[in-house]
Amino acid sequence: MTRALNRVAKRVAILVGCAGFVALGVFAERSEPNPEPRIAFLSVGQGDCTVVVAESRTILIDAGPANERTNGAARFVVPALYGMGVKTLDLVLITHPDADHMGGLAALARRFKIGKVGLGARFADHPVARQFLNEAGIAPEQMWWINGEHEATAEPFKVRVRDAAPADADDNDGSLFVHVQAGKGSALLTGDASIEMEGLVPPSWKAQVLHAGHHGSRTSTGDALLDRVRPQIVVVSCGRDNAYGHPHNEVLDRLRKRRISVLRTDRQGHIEFRPGPDGLDKVAATRTWRDR
Ligand SMILES: [Zn+2]
Repeated sequence: MTRALNRVAKRVAILVGCAGFVALGVFAERSEPNPEPRIAFLSVGQGDCTVVVAESRTILIDAGPANERTNGAARFVVPALYGMGVKTLDLVLITHPDADHMGGLAALARRFKIGKVGLGARFADHPVARQFLNEAGIAPEQMWWINGEHEATAEPFKVRVRDAAPADADDNDGSLFVHVQAGKGSALLTGDASIEMEGLVPPSWKAQVLHAGHHGSRTSTGDALLDRVRPQIVVVSCGRDNAYGHPHNEVLDRLRKRRISVLRTDRQGHIEFRPGPDGLDKVAATRTWRDR
């Protein structure tokens, strides 16, 4: 194929790719192009924030932690996103409305234009979720209340989102599952869902990189999930010397037994991958503040 044809094909692919999210009403308008697609698990202290930088979209999976004592989103997420040249958050997916996942939304909304916020429809009347959305000034028309399973493309990534838990699940178990794929590379995130809920991850959602459930708690990242997903790498997002003892030894043992590599945001800082011909290539682990 000639270069010009290649360019046209690429543009068509982007247009087709965006159609998924446009069809869902997720992306309101195009944002500026991002030169270097990547997925980065940010070191935010005790909490979660993962950024998917696609060619023309930026998707966040969880907003980082904030509570009365500390604001991990302002301290760690904002500078990391500035460093990547991100100006707009086209979609912020919130796995569940706990402060260590959603608390940072207001801090991000002060610095970045936010397109849509995706949250399980089960949390539509959740008082804490409502409070976080109000503090962040998220308008009703910006909300994507997620039910069931959805798939969309933000080139070069295909993103699948699934709300699978039973209606009476608690907040952690109500976490959204998110699968991100680029060619042979893929990553799976399950929020803080417990081992019981991990059985609801679709069998086809294999992943090269698995984000440990519930910050490496023994109640998540179970044997059955590991055997089904077959990750090469598990990323644990947890704070240094956190009060919960995350990641728990039981989880590290499950990983060791299977010879799965472990990367930890409390030790390695931001952990970043870029899509390559053979899968996701780890390109950086950027150390951040000492007192994470
Ligand atoms: Zn959590």
